[in-house]
Amino acid sequence: MPFPIRSRGVAALTALGLLLALAIGSVAQSATQPSTARTDPAPDTLFPNQGDPRYDVRSYRVRLHYAPETNRLEATATISARARHRLTTFDLDLEGMKVGDVRVDGRDAAWTRHGHKLVVRPTHAVDGTFTTTVEYAGVPREHTDVDGSTEGWVRTPDGAVALGEPVGAMTWLPSNNTPGDKARYTFKVTAPSSVQVAANGNLVARIRHGNQTTWTWRATDPMSTYLATIAVGKFTIYKSRTKSITGRRIPLWSFADPTTDTSATLRDVLPEVIRFEEKRFGAYPLASAGMIIDNARVGYALETQTRPFYPYGAGVTTLVHEMAHQWYGDSVTLRDWHDIWLAEGFATYAEWLWGAAHGEATPAVRFDRLYATPAENELWHPAPTEFVDPADLFGTPVYTRGAMTLQALREKVGGTDFFAILKAWAKEHRHGNARTAQFVALAERVSGEDLGTLFSDWLELDGKPTGY
Ligand SMILES: [Zn+2]
Repeated sequence: MPFPIRSRGVAALTALGLLLALAIGSVAQSATQPSTARTDPAPDTLFPNQGDPRYDVRSYRVRLHYAPETNRLEATATISARARHRLTTFDLDLEGMKVGDVRVDGRDAAWTRHGHKLVVRPTHAVDGTFTTTVEYAGVPREHTDVDGSTEGWVRTPDGAVALGEPVGAMTWLPSNNTPGDKARYTFKVTAPSSVQVAANGNLVARIRHGNQTTWTWRATDPMSTYLATIAVGKFTIYKSRTKSITGRRIPLWSFADPTTDTSATLRDVLPEVIRFEEKRFGAYPLASAGMIIDNARVGYALETQTRPFYPYGAGVTTLVHEMAHQWYGDSVTLRDWHDIWLAEGFATYAEWLWGAAHGEATPAVRFDRLYATPAENELWHPAPTEFVDPADLFGTPVYTRGAMTLQALREKVGGTDFFAILKAWAKEHRHGNARTAQFVALAERVSGEDLGTLFSDWLELDGKPTGY
């Protein structure tokens, strides 16, 4: 997601407010989430009530019928997962929608709903691999974030587009809705033949039956729920290929609402942007690429995997940003939302690199200008990894101070080591999840330098780091 078109909201909580929020959060969590075992990963620290750490999803197969006129969908999600230990009950995240039937390994299962939790109690406890099937239907709701922005199943004049950062995927997909649980996806979407359907990955089938058409998209690279998308509406489809630095031909699928004139510029520059970023970040990490340009009035673009979403009027800088996310954010994904600078700081830095190669200020000059920002400015508060309010998830420190962190690193270790670090990060954690401490360790290993103070100054210290 690019800064600053997404609006910012509430100021940071006071210390008292924080204590209250933590107390309320822990009560709310204990009401719906049974205790976890020692082997389970920790829940997300920003959204502890999203996801269930006791199992790991391997794949989602989603069969979905959609009617654009009524915005109603009828769906079956088949979720293959592995329990980390014996479970007599487990949760899926699903906000809204009417659940018809839940089966686990083919047997009817009992279930209840608490808020956005669909709590499933199978006939027999699960252990190891198990498959859950959820039938559900209804008009999915849009989800309003604490910063006031809209996500989830977002309606457009001729259909809808699913935008899931940070938690909106649960409005249309029962899921383990936390970035640390990546899975493979198959989307089988049936809609009137008068509209087109885009999703992540590759289009593997399009079958017309009467006045309906079923589109099958397969996303074979592991993907977090917040990056999953389906877009239904009137689109012009552009199919082409571009060559990776590895020699591989990358399929490009671009879906553009025919009422926008944004598409030609972005489509023309896409292969050049991929080449530019491959030179700096390493080989393009995903099976395909492209874009979805649609008339969803959300005020932001989003790095939906392989096929970012762009609103009308998005420019090349936004494309550079969302494409950089394919390496940093999509392929190498934060495990915990407090590490979002690993996505947004990097994508912002990619904008700086592109700008410098196209006649704008160098990252060093940008850094110096920004560093002159007065100490009381919001750029310095709260530090990028230290925010407590989800409204600060897309705040200036995450994007701009995050990118400054990378420039501070570059000036400390030199350009050669710096780009070696960026490439090693993309390569070693490709298709995985990672945390900030792992990035610090990798940067120290590649450069041979002690970087602990630099990263704690830039990422954790409230206020303006001194001596840079
Ligand atoms: Zn972004």
